[in-house]
Amino acid sequence: VKEDGGDGWRFFSPGQHDQDQQRLAIVNGLRTAIERNELSIRFQPIVVAESGRIVGAELLLRWNSSEGEIPPAVFIPIAEMTGVIVPIGAWVFRQACLAEADWRRRWGAEAPYVSVNVSPRQLIKESLVEEFAAILRETGADPARLLLEITETALMADVELNLRILRRLTDLGLRVAVDDFGTGYSSLAQLTRLPVAVLKIDRAFVDGLDKRPEHRAVIRAVIGLGRALGLKLVAEGVETDAQCLELRAHGCEFAQGYYFHRPLEEPAFVATLESGLRGGG
Ligand code: C2E
Ligand code: CA
Ligand code: CA
Ligand code: CA
Repeated sequence: VKEDGGDGWRFFSPGQHDQDQQRLAIVNGLRTAIERNELSIRFQPIVVAESGRIVGAELLLRWNSSEGEIPPAVFIPIAEMTGVIVPIGAWVFRQACLAEADWRRRWGAEAPYVSVNVSPRQLIKESLVEEFAAILRETGADPARLLLEITETALMADVELNLRILRRLTDLGLRVAVDDFGTGYSSLAQLTRLPVAVLKIDRAFVDGLDKRPEHRAVIRAVIGLGRALGLKLVAEGVETDAQCLELRAHGCEFAQGYYFHRPLEEPAFVATLESGLRGGG
């Protein structure tokens, strides 16, 4: 009789072969995820930090695969590595445009803006701008109410190339946010050249705010920089009242995080927004 109750196999770490198999299964699954209706979107409110008023929403992708729910932290990197993110990203952009048009019909001038993640793999695709333009036309979305979130690391990887692409996207009327700001070593000179409207302060810095003095210094520097450049500032991953107060004190106007709202399914998002408009939330 085995001492471990017969399940000693659990203690073997998966070999390289198994990892490759798992990755392959994810890639294959992702290729058909759209047509099988396995992808869905959550909407996380972006609020005025002081009042909690909802001004925007970030679209966050979810994948309910045949093997169960797979977190974005697992499948997005694989989708990017293999390029499957390109058709999936186009699908997400379409959902963003549909949401924008729908919300504007519902709420008019009070409709929140729609923030959508764009992968560097999408950016380098020659046909991206035409594709986005076509989706905007088909859906009737207002590009000025759409915000493309691109990570600082992706933007700074090739500033010259990105400058050309971002100019064409902003010529369509789209706006650009630097995502995960603070992690990607932008120089001030580079940042001023890019046509960006918003900085999203990375959650890692917000998280350490009350514990790690160096994070406070980064937050202060980032907020100062953003304000000097006339950019809107959104703090990500705000989880506590203390974090929120401190961010406001330093001059950060907008926030996103569990302290305010988790990512919501669309009906819950609509209900939350409407209760806010009625003054109930
Ligand atoms: P991100 O763009 O930085 O998105 C913010 C992440 O922080 C989301 O994780 C969100 O659920 C989480 N979050 C928000 N508030 C809090 C908080 O208060 N505390 C904590 N601990 N987390 C919070 P999620 O949805 O798991 O997405 C992870 C990443 O996957 C995203 O990070 C983004 O890089 C990527 N991703 C998600 N959807 C898409 C997409 O449609 N396209 C692309 N290219 N990437 C996406
Ligand atoms: Ca984002
Ligand atoms: Ca982010
Ligand atoms: Ca992130």
